[in-house]
Amino acid sequence: MGRDSIALTVQATRPGTEDSFRTIWRVLLPSSVPPRGGRFRTRPPDARQRPRDFRALPVHNCAHMSFSALGLSPALQRAVAALGFDEPTPVQREAFAPVLAGRDVWASAETGSGKTAAFALPLLQRLSAQAPQSPEGARGRATKLVVLGPTRELALQTADVITSLARHLERAPKTVAAVGGMSIEPQRMALRGGAEIVVATPGRLLELVRTGSLAVDQVDALVLDEADRLLSAGFADELVAVMGLMPPVHQSVLVSATMPTAVRDLARAFLVNPVAINVDGGALPSEGLITQRAIEVDKMQRTPLLRHLLSSLDEPRVLVFVASRRGAEHVAAKLQKTGERAAALHGELTQTARNQALAALRTGETRVLVATDLAARGVDIEGLGLVVHYDLPRGAVDYLHRVGRTGRAGAHGAAISFVTAEGSAHFDVLAKKHGLALTREQVPGFEPRDAPVSPRDPHGGVKGRRKSKKDKAREAAARLQTDADQDG
Ligand code: AMP
Repeated sequence: MGRDSIALTVQATRPGTEDSFRTIWRVLLPSSVPPRGGRFRTRPPDARQRPRDFRALPVHNCAHMSFSALGLSPALQRAVAALGFDEPTPVQREAFAPVLAGRDVWASAETGSGKTAAFALPLLQRLSAQAPQSPEGARGRATKLVVLGPTRELALQTADVITSLARHLERAPKTVAAVGGMSIEPQRMALRGGAEIVVATPGRLLELVRTGSLAVDQVDALVLDEADRLLSAGFADELVAVMGLMPPVHQSVLVSATMPTAVRDLARAFLVNPVAINVDGGALPSEGLITQRAIEVDKMQRTPLLRHLLSSLDEPRVLVFVASRRGAEHVAAKLQKTGERAAALHGELTQTARNQALAALRTGETRVLVATDLAARGVDIEGLGLVVHYDLPRGAVDYLHRVGRTGRAGAHGAAISFVTAEGSAHFDVLAKKHGLALTREQVPGFEPRDAPVSPRDPHGGVKGRRKSKKDKAREAAARLQTDADQDG
């Protein structure tokens, strides 16, 4: 959608609405100025008028609270029991009441802490308590809940979780996953007659609305899963467009393991008196659930070292992160050559191939999945015991999300960073940002021989010299598509 066609309506219950509008615009579209025609409307006081405070709920460490004590309906209790959830996780405990009550909520909680059920359970409970819609109604099932995710994999996974949780509800809502990269026709068919819940990537949602296959004018609640990623610049246009389509009054729920400051400003601007829930600082699981290691190795020795680790560590599922799509193919192919059950996952594959790659890791058919950061967000693979940073992530936030694919739901996991001479200074920055005091290891037989690179010269050139062709090629490679693996 072109910028000229963006209509953004900001509604608020408090003065200063114009400021909110400008903040949203500035953060989402930093390179442009808000159009003069931006509309400011003040929402009249209504039933959803909430206290004005913006506060973080204290996290109660009431260790053993049951789902029933939380007020979860019997049908949903059956569903969580069937999934093997004995008691709510902290974020599920904290989010349940405010989400059920229709409050705007902003929840940061560590990776793998049960955030999907934290928003899905109360929203399903409210949805199932609503009066049944007349089957003769012009629209059939009106869409009441929209969940947006930044990657197709995450959206498909979330739709599955919601469907499992809704299984025993008397009037089970219809849930449709609408993601790009797959044929739109089956999604159109699935939306015929409506669907109460749509879990989507932003681009496909817009396409379905634009072509009249989906109406979102009766949405009660909008959830932004991995909200910081969705609120980042890459999704700006699409997100502004989605927000413009939502009805003036709706509940917004933001969940993420990380909330960088820039995103906080934006979140503040478009949430109305939100309840902020911050469980354990929204980072990695504490209490040593994830063992983090750093191994020094020469760049050219990384694949042999990886092979060595794979044969010495008895891990049935391993996720290896690389910096580029080509790197994913290359490393996976090298591992396959020595008989490893390895596969690649990146944004250039068809969606079917992407789904198959993840499914094969889940079933154990694939042991090692070599992926770009496409797999870093939200993807939940039971029994994933090891994450390897073959290439270091670009930033501290990516590091956290990658590592968070392991050590989920109380399980133990390990994360190993390969630290080359070139990446040494960058690793120090990542470690410092996460307060990691790791002793760098060397594995016998793989001790590094490359000369250390001056920290002032992160590209590896010799200080004071003009950049060589090799330096330039290295720079170009570093700029390659890591992050472009983003879904519309
Ligand atoms: P999520 O953060 O939503 O991706 O969930 C991470 C993992 O925790 C998933 O494998 C869930 O099935 C699992 N999980 C979610 N809630 C609970 C719970 N209350 N008890 C045990 N496991 C849970």
